[in-house]
Amino acid sequence: MNEFVESRLRVKRKVLVVDDETINLKILEKILSSDYDVLLSDNGDEALKIIRNNKDTLSLILLDLLMPGTDGFSVLQILMSSTELKHIPVIVLTSETSAEVQSLKMGAADFIPKPYNVPEVILARIGKTIQLFESINIVSATQNDELTGLYNRDFFMEYAGVIDQYYPDTEMDAIALNINRFHIINELYGRAFGDSLLGMIGSVVLDHILDKKGIACRYNADGFFIYMPHSDDPEELFDSLVKGISGELSEAGSRIRMGIYQKADKNIDLHKRFDSALLACNSIKGDFDKHLAYFDSSMHEQETHRERLAGDMEKALAEHEFIVYYQPKYNVRGEVPLLSSAEALIRWKHPEFGMISPGEFIPVFEKNGMIRRLDRFVWREAARQVAEWKRKYGIIIPVSVNVSRIDMMEPGFVEEITGMLKECGTDPGEYMLEVTESAYTEDSDRIIEIVNDLRKLGFMIEMDDFGTGYSSLNMLSSLPIDVLKLDMGFVKNIHENEKDLKMVELIMDIAEYLDLKVVAEGVEHEEQFRLLKDIGVHIIQGYYFSKPLPGEEFEKLIKERTEAGK
Ligand code: C2E
Ligand code: CA
Ligand code: CA
Repeated sequence: MNEFVESRLRVKRKVLVVDDETINLKILEKILSSDYDVLLSDNGDEALKIIRNNKDTLSLILLDLLMPGTDGFSVLQILMSSTELKHIPVIVLTSETSAEVQSLKMGAADFIPKPYNVPEVILARIGKTIQLFESINIVSATQNDELTGLYNRDFFMEYAGVIDQYYPDTEMDAIALNINRFHIINELYGRAFGDSLLGMIGSVVLDHILDKKGIACRYNADGFFIYMPHSDDPEELFDSLVKGISGELSEAGSRIRMGIYQKADKNIDLHKRFDSALLACNSIKGDFDKHLAYFDSSMHEQETHRERLAGDMEKALAEHEFIVYYQPKYNVRGEVPLLSSAEALIRWKHPEFGMISPGEFIPVFEKNGMIRRLDRFVWREAARQVAEWKRKYGIIIPVSVNVSRIDMMEPGFVEEITGMLKECGTDPGEYMLEVTESAYTEDSDRIIEIVNDLRKLGFMIEMDDFGTGYSSLNMLSSLPIDVLKLDMGFVKNIHENEKDLKMVELIMDIAEYLDLKVVAEGVEHEEQFRLLKDIGVHIIQGYYFSKPLPGEEFEKLIKERTEAGK
């Protein structure tokens, strides 16, 4: 236990009992006096004076609700609205359930029902509350997130740990909550709107958890954690959120998603429990029909599977299990769509699991750094392919490759990729690099420097997954990029959701202003294609035209184009 707490534990705590009935004061004094230094008051006004005079030494207030004159509710309200006094825990003394709930909502720490039959229970309750609040008050400095009124992350974790310590037998749910596309909302609708949205979420969350004895924090810009006693109806929280703010959210083309780790295993580190809730939350990031996901053991199994993949990578490279596919991109600005370029996408033909999609293994390799070797393999293969098509068909089909943030941070990256191209006989102008939006925001200065160098050498830079990261539209104008690649999420419902269409139109306007080309990917239907073409999108990539293809099959498309004389 913390030293501070320990030192506090050695002195006799001061407790104030407020009740207008003398008999009650007498009973409580008798119960408490051997363990506590007890102050007594029979009315609200005097109690407030005593509290103010003892604000730094008072450990707890036992407060009767029904009193003539200034009653317990008024005292409670005054305490809770005072920054100086609200750190002192209040346990209310009640005889009716409705008052219990109301006082808890008002900020009381707990309640003790009258009459006082079992002194041990009263003592235990008081002891727990005092310990809990003392541990919490240690970290009082910057505990609150100003915008939402919820706790900040550090304080939240500390508090959650204290709850675990004092209520080891209460089953708890760890919940992660996230807003889709929050940053772009901020940019398009203004910070004030974004802030008010966060504020609203904060107050709905607070409303929901207060009488359930939960706690909540904002753990990053648009993410919230909740820790509360297990609920059999977690959708209830989601429903109240949706009721509270869905209007504003859908107005902005966004939505909330929630990941829940129910009855979180207390043997697991607290941070890991919230990682699991986040894992569940992020598992539905790209799934626009799902709002809620539960963490379960299958997610643990996935973890094991991922470890297996990491272990297999070395051998897979040696045995040529990785294959580069090419997905065509079409220029749709003219009358007929014209095959213009391609994106190189890796595939893994695993001897046991069959074809594995990169969505499964890239995140693993990004985490353990193996992505560097894999990407170098893809880049070389793509460079070789561009040179081969040039030689065979006299046509340049620029290929874009995906570049992870870790690739770029590697010393000598620029020299390496230019050297590689040279060896293959491909010019930087025939090669494009896709850098995700999030890479730009994580190490922006360094990344911008490197990307500037690359552009000077003739490389074209595409910002991938635009709209999911954190770059501001203002920042866009200073970022060295040539092309914006819209995140697939925008395209997905564009034909059904007017808000999404509006969003893309807005982005198009900005892109035009900044003289950037726009690529839309994930285009599957004729309708999506038409709309995007009409809005003025330059390049389209998606199943509507073709899935990613092995080199030989892609070649057929090139042949078609050359035979048509284009
Ligand atoms: P990404 O860079 O956003 O690539 C686009 C993904 O969308 C590809 O998934 C592509 O097959 C898929 N896609 C294309 N058209 C459609 C469509 O019409 N509908 C739908 N539903 N999907 C479509 P893929 O190949 O599974 O790759 C997933 C992600 O893995 C890529 O997302 C990229 O982030 C990463 N990745 C793939 N290859 C590489 C690589 O060589 N290096 C690195 N670092 N990452 C890679
Ligand atoms: Ca990409
Ligand atoms: Ca993408």
